[in-house]
Order: sequence, then C-alpha cells, then structure tokens
Amino acid sequence: MKAFTYQSLPMRVIFGEGALAGVAGEVERLGARSALVLCTEAQRASAENVARLLGQRAAGVYDKAQMHVPIETAEEARHVAADLGADCCVAIGGGSTIGLGKAIAMTSELPIVAIPTTFAGSEMTPIYGITEGGLKRTGRDARVLPASVIYDPALTATLPPRIAATSGINAIAHSVEALYAQDANPIISLMAEESIRALAASLPRVVANPGDAGAASDALYGAWLAGACLGAVGMAIHHKLCHTLGGTFNLPHAEMHTIVLPHSIAYNRHAAPEAMARVSAALGGAEAASGIYDLAERLGAPMALADIGMPADGLARAAELATQNPYYNPRPIEQAAILELLRDAYAGRRPP
Ligand code: NAD
Repeated sequence: MKAFTYQSLPMRVIFGEGALAGVAGEVERLGARSALVLCTEAQRASAENVARLLGQRAAGVYDKAQMHVPIETAEEARHVAADLGADCCVAIGGGSTIGLGKAIAMTSELPIVAIPTTFAGSEMTPIYGITEGGLKRTGRDARVLPASVIYDPALTATLPPRIAATSGINAIAHSVEALYAQDANPIISLMAEESIRALAASLPRVVANPGDAGAASDALYGAWLAGACLGAVGMAIHHKLCHTLGGTFNLPHAEMHTIVLPHSIAYNRHAAPEAMARVSAALGGAEAASGIYDLAERLGAPMALADIGMPADGLARAAELATQNPYYNPRPIEQAAILELLRDAYAGRRPP
C-alpha cells in the first residue's frame, strides 16, 4: 500500500425516496430561520414545493440560476438574500443552481442545504465557479461546501434523458480521474470504482424509463460517491480540457464531458494501468475507454464535439491553451498528442 493522506469533508447526507420531506428539519438543524430557495426558471415549481415544505422558514424563491454562474446573477442573488434577511440557502437543481448557492456563500457565509436533481455532483464539493467577462474562475473554498445534502431519487424522475445521460457521465468522469489522481487514496478509490459500477448499471435504465425508482436511486447513489471523489482529490487532463473548452468555446458542460471522457481515458491508458483495470472491472470487464464510449452511445448522448458547437478551427487553440500551464497528469502533457485527442473527440471516433 502506497503512503497517503486523507482528510474527510464535514458533511451530512440524507438519502432516500421521500427524503425531501425532511428539508425543514435540515434548515432547523443549522439554526436557520429564513431560507432563500434557489432554482432555475424551469424548476420554479420544485422550488415552490420546497418553500411550502419550509413554511415559516422560507424567505422566498430566487429562480434566476443559470449555467456557469454569471457574476451578475451571483450579485443579484446576494442582494436578494441580504434584502430578505436570509440566514441560509436551499438550492434545488443541478450544478448550476448549487453553484449559485456557493456564490452566495462565498461572500456571506450563509450555509447551504443542497438538493441535487441531476447527477453532476457539485453538492459534495468545496469547488466554486463564477463567470466574469467571459472567463470562468474556479477554486476551492471550505465556505462553499454545503452543510447538508438531501438526495431524493423521486426528484430525478423529471430529468430529460439527455441531461440524465450526460450529467451521469460527467459524474463518471470525476470517478475515473480520482482513480489516477496525484493524491489518490484507497478510500476514495473504493468510492470511485463503486460509483462507476452503480452509474454504468443504472443509467441505461434511467434513460429508458425515467420513472424507474430503483434505477434513479442507484444512479443517485453513484452520483453521490462521484461527487465525493471530486471533492476529495485533484483532477487531471480530462477536467483541464473540459474547463478550457467550456471557458473558451462556451460548450455545454455535461455534453462536453461525455464526449471528451473516452478520449481522455485513452490518452492516459498506458500511464495508469491500475486505474484502468478498476474502471474496466466497474464496467463488467469492458476496456475502459471504449467501454465508456459504448455506454454513452447506448444512452443516446451526443458523441462528437462537432455536434455541440465546437468550431473545427478552434482545436489547435484548445490544445495550446490546455498545455499552457503545467499540471499533474499520469501521462506527460504533449501538445501534439492532445491535439490528436481533441480531433478524435471532435469527430466522435470510438477509441480503439
Ligand atoms: P444544470 O444545473 O445546468 O441543469 C441543466 C438543466 O436541467 C437546467 O435547465 C435545469 O433546470 C434542468 N434540470 C435539472 N434537474 C432537473 C430535473 N430533475 N428535472 C427537469 N429539469 C431539470 O446541469 P448540471 O449538469 O447539473 O450542472 C452543470 C454545471 O454544474 C456546470 O456549470 C458545471 O461547471 C457545474 N458543476 C460544478 C461542480 C463543482 O463541484 N463545483 C461539479 C459538477 C458540475
């Protein structure tokens, strides 16, 4: 066993069908009296249901959460929270809504109760992201880690299959990179492998039948573990590439992760054989890169960067940006090989 350091994050997780009913108790447990409920416009009805469950403890609903947390939205939401005298935020939604809660917590230290409705995993991490002047700034800050997370599988029943599929593969990406992280450790590796196993088995069932409660529960379990992996250890080439592509070419987050992941895995294939063996075991024996590719295809996910708005003449620029600052990856970062990886992802080729 290699030497390692592991520090667990102080979080409380409530998991189960119907768990949402306990939201008022979670707010009360934090000693809060007035919660601002956050959501996207599309999820307003879910947020109003949360406000109803909170009763006297609801300060109001703010429904302007958006992808990548624009600074203007963050600032407006901070003002709304202050004007209403909120002493806590309840974020119901995907990574974008939970990200808005984190943006509020960064300046106000209001605790967050997170209620995830996708599989992206932001609820388990101290990682924030705010977009200003076209640039997304991300970082780690203990103040933004949700105090309490409620996982209720009933909430993913309304998830459009494309978002279920791609946010699920986004979760798998956290776990794959945790397995070859510079600061990998045995506990997180167990969670990573188990999360890939749970997600790979359940996502096809979730996509085929969003009302399948057992499948939704298994997928959310996998998403919880994957989010915990992302929160605990550092990431590598895959997350760096997606950050670059998302920031510079404004590609949709979960779709982009889904398309790039098989190619990132193929890039690291020979440099991280132990991690690859664990991914393969979690996929029931399929080779890691092509196994993830086949899973995404089976889920009906987009497979090529060309299909989600990536300009062909941007590939060289992306390869240059992604290789600019040195960072950890099990295989050294070589610009020509990264460009090759991006070309494969652009065309949607199946890794050999
Ligand atoms: P999202 O939060 O942007 O949601 C996508 C869309 O799906 C939204 O319109 C939303 O309203 C809708 N939606 C969500 N759940 C639904 C449901 N159950 N039923 C119907 N509609 C639903 O998507 P995402 O993939 O969850 O999050 C992506 C964002 O999260 C990115 O900005 C990414 O950077 C961030 N993220 C952050 C972390 C972190 O640790 N900080 C981790 C993962 C993702």
